[in-house]
Amino acid sequence: MLQLVDVGRQSLDAYKPIVGTEIIEELRDLAKPLKGLKVAHINATPYGGGVSELLRSLVPLEKNLGLDAEWRIIFGQEPFFKVTKTFHDALQGAQHRLSSEEKDTYVTYNYANSRELKAADYDVVIIHDPQPAAMIETMEASHKTKWVWRCHIDTSQPNPEVWAYLRNYIVHYHRVVFTMQEFVPPGFSRAEVEIIPPAIDPLSPKNMELEPGMAERILSWLGMFPKEPFVTQISRFDTWKDPFGVVKAYQMAREEIPELHLALVGSMALDDPTGWDVYKELTELDRADNNLQIFTNLTGVSNIEVNAFQRLAKAVIQKSVREGFGLVVSEALWKATPVIAGRAGGIPMQVQGGGGILVDSTEDCAAAIVEVFKDRALAQELGAVGRANVAENYLITRLLRDELMMLRSVLGYSSDRKAA
Ligand code: UDP
Repeated sequence: MLQLVDVGRQSLDAYKPIVGTEIIEELRDLAKPLKGLKVAHINATPYGGGVSELLRSLVPLEKNLGLDAEWRIIFGQEPFFKVTKTFHDALQGAQHRLSSEEKDTYVTYNYANSRELKAADYDVVIIHDPQPAAMIETMEASHKTKWVWRCHIDTSQPNPEVWAYLRNYIVHYHRVVFTMQEFVPPGFSRAEVEIIPPAIDPLSPKNMELEPGMAERILSWLGMFPKEPFVTQISRFDTWKDPFGVVKAYQMAREEIPELHLALVGSMALDDPTGWDVYKELTELDRADNNLQIFTNLTGVSNIEVNAFQRLAKAVIQKSVREGFGLVVSEALWKATPVIAGRAGGIPMQVQGGGGILVDSTEDCAAAIVEVFKDRALAQELGAVGRANVAENYLITRLLRDELMMLRSVLGYSSDRKAA
């Protein structure tokens, strides 16, 4: 079988103080007809990046509602992940000529993984992102299993060749879920499309309340001087997230705020082989500047540390040029920290109404850092508006509700809360 990710247990009741009893009761009602449903979530990595973040919180809650939910990861080696990273980039619009070797590698690993899945044992298989998307090819028509493709990336302007290739697999799915309507690829108008934005878990160590004193101790241990003012970007080391642009913007802002520090925090994901190259280039810059520090999951930056960075920063930057949703934006806003972010993917909808400042260039980004740094009243207002927006729209209970509705619909149950 594919490797199971053991997520432990969580009780939905723990969320009552944050979202209220009514929402929890509604979720329990919605889940009633789904009790015992065998659901497999399949993705490429158990850590690093938004999808693993989501599944880590969602799967225990589905289990708590009585679903027999599992999270399994596919296996792969560097040649496969190189191809899938290329697909990922191409689906976000990068130029690419698809070769027959790439198709062979992609299909070979996907078939090998499907042989390990035993899909017929599940009522619903939810495939996350393009890496395992071709696993559906081995689906047998006689099986009752429903297949859902959950796409987390921006496929609004995909490379036509790569999308045409993947589309051949996607059309077999019973349901296809995108983060935003704008991400549905051109011409892909099927009734089975659904829109579900991701969400953050307010009880996870990454987002839970954390006393400022404790947050300072955590950052001190990492080697930061938390009393020094800093901005941070917390992202996979990926050029779409523009880490080099962040460094430039910080350098420009430092001309006006010499005491400013930058903490670039990045994680390495199993399925992202190019992260190492970006990391190496960044560490070269790091050596030349005492106020610039680079941190990774390899040296102890895990969830609680990210929490501390996001809480104590003067602003969280997310200077993406392409983005799926950008969970880090909601994570920062939930802590009432103002966000300065690229106008890309799901970011604008998270900062709508004034939770942050959207930027289109390095100069804009530098100017926004200076503005937020100097005008603390503005910073506070941005943070307060942002937190309210996240509370309303981007907490895990809303995502769980959307997922339950989607499952009910895929299985042909009524959308009425109590009816099965
Ligand atoms: N993340 C982390 N440590 C890091 C960098 C990122 O824990 O060093 C987390 C971050 O907090 C967020 C997720 O990885 O939960 C990134 O999700 P997002 O949707 O922002 O981007 P993706 O990586 O999925 O493109």
